[in-house]
Amino acid sequence: MRPFNVVVLGAGGVGKSALTVRFIKDIFVDTYDPTIEEAYRRTVNVDGQLSSLEVLDTAGADQFTSLIELYIKSGLGFVLVFSLTQEASLKEVDYLRQQIYRIKDGDTSVPIVVVGTKADLSNEREVHATTIKTLASRWGLAFYETSAKRNWHVTDVFEDLVRQMRSR
Ligand code: GDP
Ligand code: MG
Repeated sequence: MRPFNVVVLGAGGVGKSALTVRFIKDIFVDTYDPTIEEAYRRTVNVDGQLSSLEVLDTAGADQFTSLIELYIKSGLGFVLVFSLTQEASLKEVDYLRQQIYRIKDGDTSVPIVVVGTKADLSNEREVHATTIKTLASRWGLAFYETSAKRNWHVTDVFEDLVRQMRSR
C-alpha cells in the first residue's frame, strides 16, 4: 500500500509534535525537542478502508523559506497548526496556506486541514470561535480545535485529511 505523505507545519511551539505523537502513539509528550524533525508511519481505518500514512513532523520551518518549499513539495496533504493560546500563530498558517497554493501551481483542492491546538488551556485562549468561523469560510478550509493533552479531536483531523487525499 503506497503511503499518503502528510506534512505537519506551523510556527515553533504551537504543538505540532504533541499532536503528531498523540495521533501516532496515543501518548502526550510534554517536552519534545523543538529541533527534531521526525517521520512516522501509521495505518488507519477510515470508513472501513485501510490507508497507510507517512506523517512528517517538521521543525524550524518558520525560519527557513527554502525548507518550507521542500516540505510542501514532499507532501500530498497538510496539517497547518496554530495554537488557540497564541493569536499570532495564525499568521504563520495563512503564510503556509499561500505557499502551498503557490508551490502546487495554484491547485486549490490540495488536501489541507487547519488545527488550533491546546484547547484544554481555556484560560489562556486568545483565538475566538468567531475568528475561526470567519477564516474557515474565507479560506474554504476545515478547522479543528484539538488538545493533544486531553486527546480531543486529534483523530478527526487525520481522518478528514485521509478522506480528502483519497478523493485525489
Ligand atoms: P512544536 O514546536 O510545534 O512541535 O510544539 P510541541 O509539540 O513541542 O509543544 C510545545 C509545548 O506546548 C510543549 O510544552 C507541549 O507540552 C505543549 N502542548 C502541546 N500541545 C498541547 C496541548 O494540547 N495542551 C497543552 N496543555 N499543552 C500542549
Ligand atoms: Mg516539534
